[in-house]
Amino acid sequence: GGTRLVAVRIVEVSPRLVLAVLRDITERERVEEMRRDFVANTSHELKTPVGAVSLLAEAIESAADDPDQVRIFTARLSAEATRLGQLTSRIMNLSRLQAADDFGDARDVAVDEVVASALEAHAVQAQSAGVDVHRGGERGLYVRGDGQVLGEAVGNLIANAIAYSPQGSTVGIGVRAVDGIVEIAVTDRGIGIAEADQQRVFERFYRADQARSRRTGGSGLGLSIVKHAAQRHGGEVVLWSRPGRGSTFTIRLPRIDAPDAEQPPRKRPN
Ligand code: ADP
Repeated sequence: GGTRLVAVRIVEVSPRLVLAVLRDITERERVEEMRRDFVANTSHELKTPVGAVSLLAEAIESAADDPDQVRIFTARLSAEATRLGQLTSRIMNLSRLQAADDFGDARDVAVDEVVASALEAHAVQAQSAGVDVHRGGERGLYVRGDGQVLGEAVGNLIANAIAYSPQGSTVGIGVRAVDGIVEIAVTDRGIGIAEADQQRVFERFYRADQARSRRTGGSGLGLSIVKHAAQRHGGEVVLWSRPGRGSTFTIRLPRIDAPDAEQPPRKRPN
């Protein structure tokens, strides 16, 4: 929250400053409203898996005489618990990204490492979905920020690209530098996103095509995390998509020079 009480003190100095205060209050209300929405959405989204867990627990209890049934319900219970765990950690990540004003300890981050760790994290998913993931483009580019946050963001894009692509298709990850910007683009030849949904998919818990999305078992938080991670790094995420053809999500971040290996790490202002 960037509420500046300083502005309140100098409120009567000139009309310009009055305006500044009004804008500040608006911003504070907006943040407060976002926070309220977040809590409401989150509670709602948690109710379904929590409900499933208690129903399954009851089912196991009443099927106690039937080992086969118990096995089936136990496996489902375990799957729900895993999902609940993932959902919870995504909610925490997102709220952390939204809450803090900036990174306590931004570092020089090698884009190669970000992409490599995101790829590795989704290798099993790619293999079991029968989707080939290729990495191309420039090497040796750097950005400033939190490598783990960026890795998760790129990972979310890769996870989606795989999840919304047919078996046997290819997902491409391209890296390049354009005018002081590093672009990390994840391209798939999957189902694509209808134009009406293209803005909305970045909203928390928004999922296009509920039926199909439910099958992929996501949370609707992945792209919201990507958006906040990019913004937090002074960047953005851009979407190009055509239904039936595929999608490209591009994370654009300010580029920094490669850190000089000879020198001790430079102290940069955050
Ligand atoms: P989810 O967990 O549902 O994947 P996201 O926030 O990552 O949540 O994505 C929101 C919605 O955007 C998805 O439910 C899906 O409808 C759509 N979407 C995201 N990525 C893609 C993609 N690569 N291709 C097609 N649709 C996508």
